[in-house]
Amino acid sequence: MGATFSLGRLAGIRVGVHWSVLVIFVLIALGLAGGRLPDAHPDRPVWSYWLVGLITAVVFFLSLLAHELSHALVARRNGVGSESITLWLLGGVARLKSEAPSPVAELRIAGIGPLVSLLLGIVFALLTVLFGALYGSGLVLEALAWLAAINIMLAVFNALPAAPLDGGRLLRAAVWWRTGSRLRATEVATSAGRGLGWLLVAAGLYLVFMGAVIDGVWLLIIGWFMSAMATAEGGQAKVRELLGSVPVREAMTPDPTTVPAASTVTEFLSGAPWQYRHSAFPVTDPGGGPVGVISVNRAGEVPVAERDSTTIASAMVAVDDLPTAGPDDPLTGLLPALEASPVHQALVLADGRLVGIVTSSDVSRTITWLASAAGSRTPRTPLHPGRSSPASS
Ligand SMILES: [Zn+2]
Repeated sequence: MGATFSLGRLAGIRVGVHWSVLVIFVLIALGLAGGRLPDAHPDRPVWSYWLVGLITAVVFFLSLLAHELSHALVARRNGVGSESITLWLLGGVARLKSEAPSPVAELRIAGIGPLVSLLLGIVFALLTVLFGALYGSGLVLEALAWLAAINIMLAVFNALPAAPLDGGRLLRAAVWWRTGSRLRATEVATSAGRGLGWLLVAAGLYLVFMGAVIDGVWLLIIGWFMSAMATAEGGQAKVRELLGSVPVREAMTPDPTTVPAASTVTEFLSGAPWQYRHSAFPVTDPGGGPVGVISVNRAGEVPVAERDSTTIASAMVAVDDLPTAGPDDPLTGLLPALEASPVHQALVLADGRLVGIVTSSDVSRTITWLASAAGSRTPRTPLHPGRSSPASS
């Protein structure tokens, strides 16, 4: 999922927002302030509709965050770290660092989200009753009732047994537990996801033709997203299965040619790339320690007039912004970071010493080779810039 922006960290987990959430935010605020609230109480000042509408949209957004954070925290308790949470159209994506270790862990991690949404729905429903008893009807009551309904809807929708929804994870946990095959389980859950996605698209089209354009377009978008994400998730599962326990060293270029950090872009462009035919090179300090990576494309972006005075150190991607791995780490563990990296390259380090470099194309090549050796078709790999699918929704 591309087009996300960061909101900072919560409990050590990076929180991001996908553009689709902004669409939701605007639609919710508009729907409340421009429709539901004035319809229910037409005699109030316009600013009060907008105030309550905007606050309600923010609380909805926090409910989504609570849902995702619960996934991430339960994952952590079950030994699966999370690096980030991304909120999007259907709720959110807690990006887990690895797969759940067992069906039971998967069940806990996936199940907690809808449970939290359901609890929030119940809490808002109780608040609605309480507020109604104390103050009678009003805009706040309307907002609380809406929050109760939307959280319960969120719980029910996310519990549908189709990837990438939480219910898809639950289905996957069940099939995994029954068959013992994680790949088979993912295939079942992602097929269900594609099926439900297309069903929603069909229902959306039907509604559009029947004249309910807004509701129809909503369903179309959600169905399309679901189907696309289920497909990407299926591809990733196949990749993980093929790569199995292949270590990073199998895919890396060992002892790569390095570029000194102090050399200039001109020196680099007239030298290394032509001699060695690689697209990117590790950059080292005078002591030989790795400090970053420079790609031919990146160096080429430096304006010609500035190339003589620009050092590689100021043009490179610094080592802190790059994924790194040990030579014996499993290659699958490196995939998410490699995908997210701005240059799609990772340095392979042993005791802080550079021993190799691995690129997205190295991984793709390894996958193609393994797929051919296994006699299967190369899966649609998710190794493209800004494309990924969730570890959990
Ligand atoms: Zn969830």
